[in-house]
Amino acid sequence: MVPALRLCRASPCPDGTRCGFYHPPVDETPDQVLQEVWSRRFTLLAGSTCEAAQADLFTAFLRILADVAAAVLRVNQTGIYFEPRDEATRSAHPGYAVVWIPQGDADRALHLLRTTPEAMALVRLKSRYGLRVQAKHEQTVHEALRPNAEFVQVRITQIYRLHPLPHGLQRATLAKFLKEIKWRARPLQPSRGSSEGASWNVGASSAPPTPSVHAFGRDILITLVKEHNSGPAPTCLLAASRRTQRHIQAHATGAVKPDTDPWLATDPWSAYHAKIALPATKPDTKHIDEVAQKLQDSVRTEVLKEIQNMPAASGSTSSPIVDQRFSKLEAGLQEVRAQGDQFQKWFTQANQRMTQQEQASNALKSAIDSQQKELGVLRQDVQQTGIQVGTQLASLRNDLGSHLDDKIDSAMQRFEALLSKKQRTED
Ligand SMILES: [Zn+2]
Repeated sequence: MVPALRLCRASPCPDGTRCGFYHPPVDETPDQVLQEVWSRRFTLLAGSTCEAAQADLFTAFLRILADVAAAVLRVNQTGIYFEPRDEATRSAHPGYAVVWIPQGDADRALHLLRTTPEAMALVRLKSRYGLRVQAKHEQTVHEALRPNAEFVQVRITQIYRLHPLPHGLQRATLAKFLKEIKWRARPLQPSRGSSEGASWNVGASSAPPTPSVHAFGRDILITLVKEHNSGPAPTCLLAASRRTQRHIQAHATGAVKPDTDPWLATDPWSAYHAKIALPATKPDTKHIDEVAQKLQDSVRTEVLKEIQNMPAASGSTSSPIVDQRFSKLEAGLQEVRAQGDQFQKWFTQANQRMTQQEQASNALKSAIDSQQKELGVLRQDVQQTGIQVGTQLASLRNDLGSHLDDKIDSAMQRFEALLSKKQRTED
């Protein structure tokens, strides 16, 4: 499908090298351009692997001749995209960059590709398009395509997750925020948020100035999600697919542990000795006995080793994990004890307060009692006084009565005397 990946086998080329196929230099005779194809995957746009018939995408890794790479990276055929990979890290090649087109369809992307001299080819991620450029042209193209977006020149080796951020936070706002906290980082894409807030993945080449930042009225945590392993490349680079390398590594490490003497484990002459010592008549039983003995020995040594290890593992005080757990436990106990003390203090205080209240109420009660008694006495007094007053009044009345009688008697006598006197004078 891509002519650049095919070798022109005609010699000389009938089209005069205009056939589009690859023409190797005169002194080289490669057998083909495409050296290897691996990790073939049929996937849906959503990302899940599926059968070839339903697939939206087919992806594969290609190993090609270095001479062809430049031509392949400029291939622009509808539906075919090439991405250069770094030999050491196997991730995106640091020599190239992608400038994403803010919005627009394939036609607009194609137009931009034609009108941007630095652009090499189109890049597509689901429905988004971008232009692949050389890393040194990234800033120029970025400023031309996205004049409003802040360009942050950073070689992304680490991906961090910021959470929780305000829901609906825009890329531009986040870029401004990253600039404010003086961290050279570029917003990549929104990540899975939570009820607490949204979250964004940002790319950076160094750790943030602080692991948490207070902004937008909340504390935002910055956690490392992924780090590209860009350490020194292995000394002996084996040109093979990952699966082959894994296979080779598995067999290389699985054989013998490096710290055991290979002569003890796999002595090439051990079989020779056994054969010589065997009597010719009963070789099998002897061999089986030997194997059984060996098995017993090995089991015994293993068990002994386990037993020796067991107390060391369970009762050891030097183990850092156990130490840590003990110290944690100790701290917890201390806390519980402190809390208990506090509770006890509270309880004694409450008790004291209660007895005080009881005493106060008792005093009140006795006061009321004494008052009641006094009241009784007072009542008796009042009653007695009443009676006395009554008797006094009665006697007073009697006195008054007799006095009045006397007075009336004397008055009547005087009146009678006057009457008789008058009669006598008239006669
Ligand atoms: Zn040709």
